[in-house]
Amino acid sequence: MGQKVYINGEFFDKEDAKISVYDHGLLYGDGVFEGIRAYNGKVFRCEQHVDRLYESARAIALKIPMSKQELNDAIHEALRTNGLDDAYIRLVVTRGVGTLGLDPTKCHSPQVIIIVDTILLYPEYYYEKGLEVVTVPTVRNHHNALNPKIKSLNYLNNILAKIEALQAGVIEAIMLNKDGFVAECTGDNIFIVSDGNLITPASHAGILVGITRGVVMELAEEAGIKSVEQELTRFDLYVADECFLTGTAAEIIPVIRIDSRDIGDGKPGPITCQLLKMFRDETKDKR
Ligand code: PMP
Repeated sequence: MGQKVYINGEFFDKEDAKISVYDHGLLYGDGVFEGIRAYNGKVFRCEQHVDRLYESARAIALKIPMSKQELNDAIHEALRTNGLDDAYIRLVVTRGVGTLGLDPTKCHSPQVIIIVDTILLYPEYYYEKGLEVVTVPTVRNHHNALNPKIKSLNYLNNILAKIEALQAGVIEAIMLNKDGFVAECTGDNIFIVSDGNLITPASHAGILVGITRGVVMELAEEAGIKSVEQELTRFDLYVADECFLTGTAAEIIPVIRIDSRDIGDGKPGPITCQLLKMFRDETKDKR
């Protein structure tokens, strides 16, 4: 059976799932999105993702033309329709068709799109051996320009950083904010382990407040590991005992080198491995 894409209540074959070239999502990146995982037919932290989508939409004055419950039902229907148990679900809400001008009030019907697919962000190798990353020159968006809390369709800030990482020969970048403090990666949040505690930048550092980040903090609490939100400099990264990234697609991935410096002893650390195991058990629970 071919893949089916949900657009505004209807399912289309992948090849026929199309929206207008006048959609402001395409013309201006005017819209919001979510990436969600399903593990064995259960949508992981669905409510939190739906809540964040609605918050992103409110922040850009975009009214999603259905209730949270209706959207929740549509997500589950899309999962069933595609017959996938383990899946990556991409929810997209665009501003809809408008004129060639910016004015969003000329767009009268937001498009709600649900794509159900699979994703492998990083090969398994990196989960065992760890990832090398670099800090990059592109500064994370300032919260008064485009708040990184908004998961908008405009990801150019992140893409520019990704290009810089690739140019440096690695596959992920650490972005700093305009004050030089660590913010996040292009599609993941960042944690370090120092003296047995987890440290991660606070929301005001200019980050997307990741749902996986929240799950990791819950798991840490369960394991009796303290987690704190604190400003981090590159120095703090370089002298950390361990480092890892979190995200819906990546889950938890160890980082073993930053800007050519080994982190800890250059191998995935014990707390990272413990949390990765707990995370996998937590998602297996949903199986
Ligand atoms: N930061 C950015 C910029 C992201 O795009 C994402 C999601 N891919 C994350 C962090 C992680 O968020 P979550 O755990 O909710 O997927």
